[in-house]
Amino acid sequence: MQEPFIKETTSTLLLNNWADQTNRLVAGFTTKNGGTSQAPYQTNNLGLHVKDDPRKVVTNRMSLANHLGFPTTNWACADQVHADQIVKISKPLAGSGAVDYQDSIKGTDGLYTQEKDLLLALCYADCVPVYFFAPDHQMIGVAHAGWKGTVKNISGKMIELWDLMENIPPKDIHAAIGPSIDSCCYVVDDHVINEVNDVLKSISSDYAPYKEISEGQYQLDLKMLNKLLLLHAGVEEKNILVSNYCTSCQDDLFFSHRRDEGKTGRMLSFIGMKKE
Ligand SMILES: [Zn+2]
Repeated sequence: MQEPFIKETTSTLLLNNWADQTNRLVAGFTTKNGGTSQAPYQTNNLGLHVKDDPRKVVTNRMSLANHLGFPTTNWACADQVHADQIVKISKPLAGSGAVDYQDSIKGTDGLYTQEKDLLLALCYADCVPVYFFAPDHQMIGVAHAGWKGTVKNISGKMIELWDLMENIPPKDIHAAIGPSIDSCCYVVDDHVINEVNDVLKSISSDYAPYKEISEGQYQLDLKMLNKLLLLHAGVEEKNILVSNYCTSCQDDLFFSHRRDEGKTGRMLSFIGMKKE
């Protein structure tokens, strides 16, 4: 698949395929470059919850806000816990967690909205960003799916929620799986694979997106697992984009929790719809 995340500036990749459908949609992912943070968060760390100087993080966030044309007062950020809670964002939640981690939306790994001029933003360093867009319904969303969120099926839950609560049929929903750690660099043990097998069983999948490389050690393709969950939820294959970027391999562009052994910064997934 042609890479759907295209380098726009030193600090940003844009999801161009969706921008073509409406020039009011802004969706993408940040890189680790072009910011002000010092080692080990050099330089464009956008996570307020790591031990970086919060003033530097806010400076980095302000710079992204200016570039994208969404002031931080219109951002919605979450206190992510690797679970499957999804929150619908309305105007009163605008600004949550944008410059102060304390007022982040608590215990939440998925956000969606139909409101214009709000920017949904979540943090990553290897976990899978999953973007959602229903152009005919002007609905947008984003999820944070590490292995825990993935086996809890946060991707499928977003589709189910839009279907049940918003009357958006899955065939109207487009999804994009963003830059994240690929199977080349993601080795897990039986504990993880047992939970992967449980979720695969729940969707009656006859394909397992992992490979045993040595006794009890497996290369896991979390992007593919999320794709299988989206397909099972009713999203059409032609409407699913998958990034080729591996955050661990691509040291020049991304922070990686695994590669950097936990001491690293965070990239931001962002999606927002402008009024005009
Ligand atoms: Zn890799």
